[in-house]
Amino acid sequence: MIIDNFNRVHNYLRISLTNNCNFQCLYCNPEEKISEISNKKIMTKKEIFEISSFFVKMGVKKIRLTGGEPFLRKDFKEIISSLKKLNVEIGITTNGFFIDKYVDFLIENNIKIINLSLDTLDEKKFFSITKRNFLKKILKNIRILAKKNFYFKVNVVVMKGINENEIFDFIKWAENLPIKLRFIEYMPFKGNKWTWNDVFSYKDILNKISEKYDFEKIEDEKNDTSKNFFISKNKVKFAVISSISNSFCETCNRIRISSDGQLQNCLFSRQTFDLLGSYRSKKNIIPIILKAFNEKHKERGGLTEFINFEKKLQTETGRKMTNIGG
Ligand code: SAM
Ligand code: SF4
Repeated sequence: MIIDNFNRVHNYLRISLTNNCNFQCLYCNPEEKISEISNKKIMTKKEIFEISSFFVKMGVKKIRLTGGEPFLRKDFKEIISSLKKLNVEIGITTNGFFIDKYVDFLIENNIKIINLSLDTLDEKKFFSITKRNFLKKILKNIRILAKKNFYFKVNVVVMKGINENEIFDFIKWAENLPIKLRFIEYMPFKGNKWTWNDVFSYKDILNKISEKYDFEKIEDEKNDTSKNFFISKNKVKFAVISSISNSFCETCNRIRISSDGQLQNCLFSRQTFDLLGSYRSKKNIIPIILKAFNEKHKERGGLTEFINFEKKLQTETGRKMTNIGG
């Protein structure tokens, strides 16, 4: 098992399949330049399967595929088909663009854990956030998932002055959908020009919602990064992911691998471990995995004072969200 020095068991693997994306979200991938990683450095489907099987032998029970946009991988179906042999739960985080194309495949393969990102319900704003005019298509794809009986999560990154005024619209919109809304605090990553002033915090989000709705705290799932709530009046479930104002590190069970096979023991860690390089040179990767988690910090990759993060996290190389996968 992968246990760190704080007795946290790591059994949830998140793999970024590609750092390419068909959207250019301002908080994630704002620069035009997309892939900085040559194809040769990206894990092949066989490598994804073989590296994942080491993790499964070490206790991993769930694998989430993310990116960039994971459906952009031409061999996406083959990756899923091979990972299914590992008998683990498989989830996907997506911007929703390719859902219509893949929904039947997802059903056939019993892939039910979908997290879909959508930050606005307004067309103009959708363009200003993503640089794409795809809102109608994404909403249509969400209806397809609902019609096909998926229960899924919708991730909303809340940014002050950009979309915090849509929180009520999202709650209204969610009334007739089989979804859980997850409001996420905006985080700093390389290139996204984050400042403290852009953060609409956990507290701000709850205060805002309480202006219009009564809600109650409901139980969080084990190892959940979000705090969960329920509005009984309209039966809407929502959650807040408060990575900035209120960390959830003590229950962390996450392992992250970038598309070029770099292992990261924390979303905020600046240290990576070259799993793919070692794997390609036929070294045993198990000691590398154990070392990575032996060195895991108690909180947020060792950055305990968030107040000083602003410059640090923005400027460091390799800290693009599309590489890490969220
Ligand atoms: N393309 C897919 C998508 O958008 O869902 C998967 C990759 S994306 C990097 C994974 C998640 O990270 C998304 O829910 C996205 O909203 C979130 N994310 C990206 N940048 C973020 C930031 N700066 N702060 C908070 N969440 C962020
Ligand atoms: Fe692409 Fe997802 Fe990042 Fe948006 S959040 S740019 S869709 S990877």
